[in-house]
Amino acid sequence: MLVGRKYRVAFTAEQVDLSHLIGDACRAVWNTGLEQRREYRRGGAFMNYVQQSAELTQAKMEFRWLAQAPSHCLQQTLMDLDRACRDHGTFRVQWRSQRRWVPSFRFPDGRGIRVERLSRRWGRAKLPKLGWVRFRFSRPLDGDVRSATISRDGDVWFVSFLVDDETCTPEKHASTSAVGVDRGVVVAIACSDNTLRDRQFATPGEDERYRRLQKRLMRQRRNSANRSKTRVAMRRLKRRERNRRKDFAAYSADQLATRYGMVVIENLCVRNMTRSARGSVAEPGTGVAQKSGLNRAILDKGWHIFELALRNVARRTGCHIVKVPPAYTSQRCSQCGAVDPKSRESQAEFRCTACGYHEHADINAAKNILAGGQSVTACGDLQPMGGSMKQEPAPPRGASAPTRLWRVEIPS
Ligand SMILES: [Zn+2]
Repeated sequence: MLVGRKYRVAFTAEQVDLSHLIGDACRAVWNTGLEQRREYRRGGAFMNYVQQSAELTQAKMEFRWLAQAPSHCLQQTLMDLDRACRDHGTFRVQWRSQRRWVPSFRFPDGRGIRVERLSRRWGRAKLPKLGWVRFRFSRPLDGDVRSATISRDGDVWFVSFLVDDETCTPEKHASTSAVGVDRGVVVAIACSDNTLRDRQFATPGEDERYRRLQKRLMRQRRNSANRSKTRVAMRRLKRRERNRRKDFAAYSADQLATRYGMVVIENLCVRNMTRSARGSVAEPGTGVAQKSGLNRAILDKGWHIFELALRNVARRTGCHIVKVPPAYTSQRCSQCGAVDPKSRESQAEFRCTACGYHEHADINAAKNILAGGQSVTACGDLQPMGGSMKQEPAPPRGASAPTRLWRVEIPS
């Protein structure tokens, strides 16, 4: 199985400069290649990777700055562009602007990369042109390196290795039980086994500090040194928040996909849901603030990265991930099946207007999602799992309050 291993790099000053240069070269190759492809398409023709690659070799003889970058990285950029254009269409692939694109480039040939462990904490890898790159050996590599990618996040650089760890996805999960998962805005993850998982990703102090930095940024002159200092500080805060969110998603996904043979989630298209507030509202100009607030809340809870993490762990455990349509999961009673918007008393409370069943609203939704997933697998849409599906025991009426797992407060 191919897995990723990411380490924090300690570049020398020259390596930082060279990495920026390589990043710029890859960006230029991407943009030029994309423009060329568009030009050809407008003329009714196609441009392919082989032609572009040959032209790149020519261009490298003309431009010295292009030749300073490792040719493998530039070729890889053209290959990525080729893939992107075939997958999404030439005119939907985006430009890599200097401000928005984060430098990242790949060394696709794993055989040319040597990785050594220097001490308990440090390792080094030999990369073309960059030479020996020291990195924090924060986890074992466990396998053969297939490729390496250098990327930047704010002022910090990382190297990720694609590693073949020589394991395979098991055909069957050890457990036959199933769980339904409701992703929410107030509580990030509610499960049909009566657990709520949530975490605070930024402390109130960090939010406050971020707001203060935003204000300071507005007062500062464009292109001034102090302004860029403020930006670095803001990025650092956001990176910390993002890391916590990733950690939470990975941890929750690991627990669910290890414990259960099937995880049922709603088929949410986060991209569509969080599409720009303008234009998505019925009347233009109304509800923009609410919509953008909701967008922020959805992105803030990391629905998408949870799904990615879940798929990642499932490769290792053999867990099935089933997606069901999200319609009415929050309005239907999981006990009697009655659908009534009035059953949802408040954000957190669900009390069925037909049978009086009382439950945490998100847990009720998670139970509906589980039932939806089980009916999908029973219909044979999905390969049935070995043995009988273990049905969850129905909780007594007016079920007890859900246990709150993983409610971590960050010490300030
Ligand atoms: Zn009911």
